[in-house]
Order: sequence, then structure tokens, then C-alpha cells
Amino acid sequence: MPPRSAPAQAPSRLDAKVLVIGSGPGGAMTACTLAEAGHEVLLVEEGDHVPVGATEPYSLDDMERKWRNGGLTPSFGPVKVTYVEGKCVGGASEINAALYHPPVPSVLDQWARDYGIADFGGDVLARHIEAIEREASVSPFPGSPGIASERLAAGAASLGWKSVAVKRFWKYDGTEVLGRRQSMTETYIPRARAAGARLQDGLKVKRLLLEGRRAVGAIATDRDGRRVEIRADRVIVCGGAVQTALILRRSGITRGVGNTLSMNPMIRVAAEFDDCINEPAIGVPVLQIEAFKPEMTLGCSNGTLAHLALWLVGAPENREQLLAEWWRLGVFYAKVMAKARGFVRNVPLVDEAFVSFRLGKSDLALLGLAAERLATLLLASGARAIISPVPGMPAVRSLNDIPALRAGVEAGKAQVTAIHLHSTVPMGSEQKGCPADAFGKLRGLENVWVNDASLLPDTPGINPQGTILAIARRNAERMLG
Ligand SMILES: Cc1cc2nc3c(=O)[nH]c(=O)nc-3n(C[C@H](O)[C@H](O)[C@H](O)COP(=O)(O)OP(=O)(O)OC[C@H]3O[C@@H](n4cnc5c(N)ncnc54)[C@H](O)[C@@H]3O)c2cc1C
Repeated sequence: MPPRSAPAQAPSRLDAKVLVIGSGPGGAMTACTLAEAGHEVLLVEEGDHVPVGATEPYSLDDMERKWRNGGLTPSFGPVKVTYVEGKCVGGASEINAALYHPPVPSVLDQWARDYGIADFGGDVLARHIEAIEREASVSPFPGSPGIASERLAAGAASLGWKSVAVKRFWKYDGTEVLGRRQSMTETYIPRARAAGARLQDGLKVKRLLLEGRRAVGAIATDRDGRRVEIRADRVIVCGGAVQTALILRRSGITRGVGNTLSMNPMIRVAAEFDDCINEPAIGVPVLQIEAFKPEMTLGCSNGTLAHLALWLVGAPENREQLLAEWWRLGVFYAKVMAKARGFVRNVPLVDEAFVSFRLGKSDLALLGLAAERLATLLLASGARAIISPVPGMPAVRSLNDIPALRAGVEAGKAQVTAIHLHSTVPMGSEQKGCPADAFGKLRGLENVWVNDASLLPDTPGINPQGTILAIARRNAERMLG
């Protein structure tokens, strides 16, 4: 592992024409578009700059340096949903599976109608999507997509379910055998910097500085907890769905903010096969089941040792033995579009957001059905045992065991996680109660925008990074106007 160099500290005062808070897909795209159009941009990021390749993906070191709270953060609700956020330069694009899904045009058109979003829809975003696919090297996995994907594809075919090897934000130019992830630190952030944008990592924005209807900057703290004042003419908040709502609410901007968090809850299971299924070197296997999208997606997850251990809680008696033959274990997921909405609140004197998410009965029923389909698929793909995500429940070894698994999930007893979070500052019309206008500008303020996953008025169901980038590109172009 390359040695860690001492990160640069921020001065106690920074000035900028345009302040972009958060460097994930939303912030990186915003900074790049504005800087390339000649604007003076300061991009601030709470986490560290950890280049691609500096950590082993999904290792403990990776999770410590790039994941908020080192991994899973709990939300509050009758059914515990833990969620994951990136906290590093590039945001969650640095830790995600890099799977690409283009926005679904019918979903975009529906949002335009339901939320009164002017100048929006499949046709409007098409040119942005085309640019992103080119600029971020969206590519198919070359050759065989790996053992896990092949097994799942064969299992799906035997059930008559359509599957697809999903494209990724990944570049294959012959210099690296396995290609290279095209996260924000490889794409839009270097472009923004080449165009003159300044990047300051290790700086956490606490709140915006407001004077009447204008923001004049923000108050932040550096790694040592020292206060840093940032002065800016325009502020664009891109901290991700949870943190953006937290920053705004801490700043006293609360109307319609943080009340409508949407997420795609998922259950993950470890499954044991007779022979090798796990190839960490290829990254997250790219196969997904198309048959039930966007309401429900089944697919493969990461199977490094650190991750496998997380999904073996249902097998306490033989966990060590299973891990000793980790290559026979894979991790798989079933993810659904939840109807429930959660909320984000700031708590006085507490640094973290308070996030509550209550899965409804219909959401749990859908998750139960998804668990049933996932187990059916895994058995059809040759799995010998599926470790139950319901603590204390025996492994699923045959079709007869599946109803108990489904019932356990429906009863809210399974471990549920979420990695796709959106909709805390939905964009749309005033009549629909949206706090941001059709281009992300906050109502009631003259110079504050949001431009990240928070703006999506609902969950897109699919892997969302492509949709977030396309919307951010459209909105940033509008800001230029
Ligand atoms: C484990 C995982 C796997 C995923 N897999 C996929 C996938 O395969 N395909 C896909 O399309 N999507 C995937 N996603 C989702 C996708 O990565 C996110 O939807 C996307 O990154 C959200 O972009 P964003 O700009 O809204 O926020 P983020 O990516 O969350 O970036 C926000 C950034 O702002 C910073 N920030 C927050 N608060 C502050 C503050 N107060 N001051 C300064 N900086 C701050 C954060 O540290 C972070 O770096 C995955 C997500 C996770 C967590």
C-alpha cells in the first residue's frame, strides 16, 4: 500500500466566487461544468483525497478511509435499515460498484408530470446522458463477466428470467489488465482542476452563512476542528441526500427539506457453492436480473473477506469454517423500490444526522417477495446453501425452506441495508411543495442551489449515478445562464 502523505490543512479564511460543497457525482459535475465555462470555483470536501488504487476496494482500510463512519450507519425505525455513504474526494463514486444504468425515460417523464418539473424528461436529458457515457467511459465488461455472473445468468435462464451484464463506469485502454474505475477522481474532478477549480479536502461545512435572502458563504471546520470561514457569491450544496439536508437544516433552511428521503432497501445474503464463485479481482460481478426492474433488482454484491463477514451473522456456528473457504462464497442482493419515505434532522450539539426510515407493510411484502426470488435464483444457479439474512434462521438449502425466509423478511426480521439515497430536497414546482425549483435553486433564496441525489423527487429504482450526473449536468448548464 502506498504511504499516506500528510494532508494539506485549509487556511482559516477562503474566498470564492462559486462554492461547491461536496465532491461526489453531483458536486464534481457541477464544479467541472462551471469551471470549464470560466467560473472561479472552490470545491470543498469533508473526506480525504484517496486516489483510485491507493486502497484495496472493500477492504477494512478502504472502509476506514473512504466510507462515512467506516461502513454502515444505522437509521431509526421499527425495522432497522442501515445505510452507506461515501466520505472522500469523489464521494460514493469512489466506493460504489460503478455499475451504470441510463435513466429510465418513462420514469423521468413521470417525475416531470407528478412534480411539475419544467423542461425535463427523457428527451431533455438524452444529450447529457450521451455526453456522460462518453466522458466517463461507460463500457461493457470485456470477455467473460466472471464465474458468479455466469452462474447467475444460467440460473436465470433456467427460470425463464431475462438477465443482463450491466455496463460500468470503467476504462479499458490496454494499460491495466482489468481496466480502471472511472470515478469522480478520475474524470470530472481532474477536469475541474485543470480548468482552474480549487479543491480543498478535509473541510466539513457546518452551515451556510446567510444575510437576508442571500448566502455569503459558509462556516466549516478542518481536520483539527479549527473554524474556517468561506466567503462566496454563490453556493451549491452537493453533500449527498442525507448530508445536504443536514447542512441546509443546520443553516435554518428547513421548509420542505429532509422530509421525503427515499431509498432502495435491500437484503444481502451470502451463498455457498460447491466450487469457486468468488473472484475479488474482477470487482463486483456485473450481472443483474432484468425481469422485475425497476421495482425489483436482483444481482451480485462484493465478496471480499471484510464484506463476507458482514453477511454471515445468520451462521454464527460455522462462520469461521465458511470464511476459511471464502472462494466458495458469494454475496448477492435483492433490492426494491420502497414507497415509504424517511426524514433527516439535525440534533443540537450532535455532529451526525438523525435519519429515520419506516418501512411500510407493502415495502416489507415486496422485500419478502424479492428474497423469495433471490433464493429461487441462487438454488437454480447451483448454490448449496443460502445463509439467511434473518438472524437465528437456518440456511436455505431447498425450495421448501424458502417460505420461511420470505415470512422472516416480511416480518421485518432481516438485516436491511440501503446504498441508494435520494429525494431530501426534491426539485419541482411550488404547487407540489418542492423546496427546490426545476433546476435545483432553493426557493426563498437568491443564490443557493442543490445539485446532487437530494433533487431526485423519487427513487429511480435503478443504479442512480447516471441519473444524478445527467441532472447535475443539465442544472449546471442552466446556472451558467
Ligand atoms: C456502496 C455503494 C455502492 C453503490 N453502487 C452504485 C453503482 O454501482 N451504480 C450507481 O449508479 N450507484 C451506486 N451507488 C450510489 C451512488 O454512488 C450515489 O447515488 C451517488 O454517489 C450520489 O452522489 P451525490 O453527489 O449525491 O453524493 P455523494 O456521492 O454521497 O457525495 C457527497 C460528498 O459530499 C461530501 N460531504 C457531505 N457533507 C459534507 C460537508 N458538510 N462538508 C463537505 N463535504 C461534505 C461527502 O463526504 C461526499 O464525498 C452506490 C452507493 C454506495 C454507497
